[in-house]
Amino acid sequence: MSLPVADAPEVRRQVRSLVRGHFGLLGRTVLWFVLATACGLVVPALLGHLVEDVEKGISTTRVDVIVVVIAGLLLVQGVFTRTARLLGARLGEQVLADIREGFVRRVLALPLSAVEKAGTGDLLTRSTRDVDALSNAVRMGAPAILVASLSVLLTFVALLVTSPLMALPCLVAVPVIWGSTRWYLRRARSAYLAEAASYSDLTQGLAETVTGARTVEALGLGERRLSRTDEDVRRSNAAERGTLFLRSVWFPLMDFGYILPVASTLLFGGLFYVHGWVSLGEVTAAALYTRAVIDPLDELLGWLDELQVGDASLARLVGVGAAVPEAVGGGRRPEDHRLAADGVSYAYRAGHDVVRDVTLRVRAGERVALVGPSGAGKSTLGRILAGVHAPRDGSVTVGDVPVGELPLEELRRHVALVTQEHHVFLGTVRDNVTLADPEAAEERVWGALDAVDAGDWVRELPDGLATELGSGGHEVSPGQAQQLALARLVLADPHTLVLDEATSLLDPRAARHLERSLAAVLRGRTVIAIAHRLHTAHDADTVLVMEDGRITERGSHDDLVAAGGSYAALWDSWHGPAADAPAG
Ligand code: ADP
Repeated sequence: MSLPVADAPEVRRQVRSLVRGHFGLLGRTVLWFVLATACGLVVPALLGHLVEDVEKGISTTRVDVIVVVIAGLLLVQGVFTRTARLLGARLGEQVLADIREGFVRRVLALPLSAVEKAGTGDLLTRSTRDVDALSNAVRMGAPAILVASLSVLLTFVALLVTSPLMALPCLVAVPVIWGSTRWYLRRARSAYLAEAASYSDLTQGLAETVTGARTVEALGLGERRLSRTDEDVRRSNAAERGTLFLRSVWFPLMDFGYILPVASTLLFGGLFYVHGWVSLGEVTAAALYTRAVIDPLDELLGWLDELQVGDASLARLVGVGAAVPEAVGGGRRPEDHRLAADGVSYAYRAGHDVVRDVTLRVRAGERVALVGPSGAGKSTLGRILAGVHAPRDGSVTVGDVPVGELPLEELRRHVALVTQEHHVFLGTVRDNVTLADPEAAEERVWGALDAVDAGDWVRELPDGLATELGSGGHEVSPGQAQQLALARLVLADPHTLVLDEATSLLDPRAARHLERSLAAVLRGRTVIAIAHRLHTAHDADTVLVMEDGRITERGSHDDLVAAGGSYAALWDSWHGPAADAPAG
């Protein structure tokens, strides 16, 4: 299932708000282009006069003067055009920056479940290909369209001023251009959207095959993946042929439309002149104007095609916003720290529940361990409790307020999910720690780093908190990256943590060190730990055993061992009735 795509009115709303946001610069750009175009338009009029004067017989010095004036005008036009293009380019960059920022904001506000459902390929295609396509349209297209439409408009005005009668022959081209453009535009949007969607599918399929290459090999799925790729390429090819067909009809008709006015102006101009309705100068100027309109018109309509691509891309970038949930709820605030789940069920695929009718209450400060065989649904339940997935049925509340009603920022001050995934962001150590609270004071940042035992190595870094991390910057070890993630958590200070065993991937020495850091973070908070190692369960206040999506046993470690159920069997097999040595 792909992420949503914005409809045409929504895209128009976005474009309008972008225009409003840059009105000043847009105005100045237009002004300079108008001046530049006006300079250029005086030239055919002067040439027309020249032809008339020559017909009447004038001195060569007058011809020289006119030629010098024309040369001067063209020079001034060049200077004005340069200024206008510079402003236009700046405008394009600013608009593009706005669009990119808006996209990033929408992506960051996406619920994780929406991203998981859509797959990363779709998001990847949108943030690469669509942004590129749009940047072309905005940077080059928007200024070019502005110039071209102004030129076409002003040229036509100049033609009318020169001779209203001579403006008539041009109009024969209007039905051709209008009709074929309408035909094209009616079909273009959906065709380009289909093309973009086919690229998404292709990227998605390839990304899955590459990231899952080992699985593909191990299960002998190569043929199947290949045929999926072939199918995606075929569909993408068909979609490209679709848009190619539209262009192959539209472009030739447009070319015909450009030549038509020149031919008809000359033809009718000749007739009008013979009847004495127009002067030779007027026919000359009109023919030059109709010639002059071809280039901007061609540019304009050429960019119209690019604009369709851009429009489809913008719809995909803006559309991501439709998957961002509205902040619902009457602004209710949780009054205490109790976390509760009531009759919670969840399915990744309809009809296949992996969490079934789970009810649990967690007291403030309680330590809960969730144990059970792999695939029992522990991680899924953890993500539901942390508000990553919305339950299919039942409810999760913190302090009696449904988790889904809390805005994400508010929710993360209450409940946070801690997993083995940790990412070092491009930026300084401080940026990495203060993600949740960019305004955090220096002492609080150090406090958080010291709390997780990271203060010492950060102090030894060349630039301390200002040391750049991430690709190209200072390399940190996986353990240090995890500490930074934990320090971030200390700063965010949620009262409840859902812990998906954060240390099991690391080497034992780093793991022991990290365990101390982690213990510091857990102190004083409510913890629901998804335990892959049973000593976590041993130390917990309450152990929940999860099997096949259900909670089958609950109680303290001692109670459950005494009860002799599946937890007791698990404990025996791990702990060994005879040996003390901790495993795994
Ligand atoms: P545990 O943490 O107990 O190992 P999980 O919650 O990871 O269990 O998985 C429970 C079930 O849900 C498994 O059958 C697993 O294959 C399935 N599952 C987990 N994550 C996803 C996902 N993102 N999409 C589809 N199915 C999933």
